[in-house]
Amino acid sequence: MFTNPLSPPVKRAGHNCRASSGVAMPLASTGARARLLGLLLGLGLILSLAGGPALAREGVEVGGNSAFSKLVPAQDIELSAARQYAQMLGDARQQNALAGPDNAQLQRLRAIARRIIPFATDWNPRAKGWRWEVNLMGSKQINAFCMPGGKIVFYTGILESLKLTDDEVAMVMGHEIAHALREHARERMGKSVATGLGANLLGQALGLGQIGQTVTNYGAQLLTLKFGREDESEADLVGLELAARAGYDPRAGITLWRKMSAANKNAPPQWLSTHPAGSTRIADIEAALPQVMPLFARAQKPPAR
Ligand SMILES: [Zn+2]
Repeated sequence: MFTNPLSPPVKRAGHNCRASSGVAMPLASTGARARLLGLLLGLGLILSLAGGPALAREGVEVGGNSAFSKLVPAQDIELSAARQYAQMLGDARQQNALAGPDNAQLQRLRAIARRIIPFATDWNPRAKGWRWEVNLMGSKQINAFCMPGGKIVFYTGILESLKLTDDEVAMVMGHEIAHALREHARERMGKSVATGLGANLLGQALGLGQIGQTVTNYGAQLLTLKFGREDESEADLVGLELAARAGYDPRAGITLWRKMSAANKNAPPQWLSTHPAGSTRIADIEAALPQVMPLFARAQKPPAR
């Protein structure tokens, strides 16, 4: 087994968050303003620590988790996501647009997920307790996502329009799973909470109740959450590694993006609107191949179909 590269920065950030944020500490004599300042200074410190060098390990390198994610409890977001997911499945079923267990494409997606998921806990120990789900919905949209807690959806449009090979499906799935593992949604929400606090200097309760409320409000937005370029690059790299370890050819990351760009000229894929692409995306994937090709070479390959 390989060591978890993320533990040290994550633990360090967590410790500093509790020690310096003032969120959970009684500060009777200091004013609300000072507490907010402490929180913001603490965040700055954590961010600088989290950006430190990663420990040497095989595979891709990304920085530590963002300290902003610590502002909202992971379990709240996972619960919100699970509710949204269940609702979405129910709606799709009602419209006769949810693939049943006998659907060959769904079976294909689930087989690929089963190979990738064992490598997920290396990136986030919480993933061990996730109740992973993979579903396929009938829609022309070129889209796929993995909600916090491991709830995956593919639309038939992305499989059919782009005629994805198994390797390319694994790249999309690895990328989506990487967003969930690296808790990019939680980070976005943490930033919103921090911004909200800054705008509300008088409401200095800083109670978890307030934060919980914000998370509840954001639950409905999990589906349309737009990621930033940095999160995208990170998801590309982590996704490449997950797929390579699962026995899928990382070079499919390049063909996938060529297909996605070609489709963009006709009808812009929905997927691109929530996953903004940098102009150097394909070049960045090419540059990362030397880190992941050895993993792919050694990996047990999926049975020929
Ligand atoms: Zn993405």
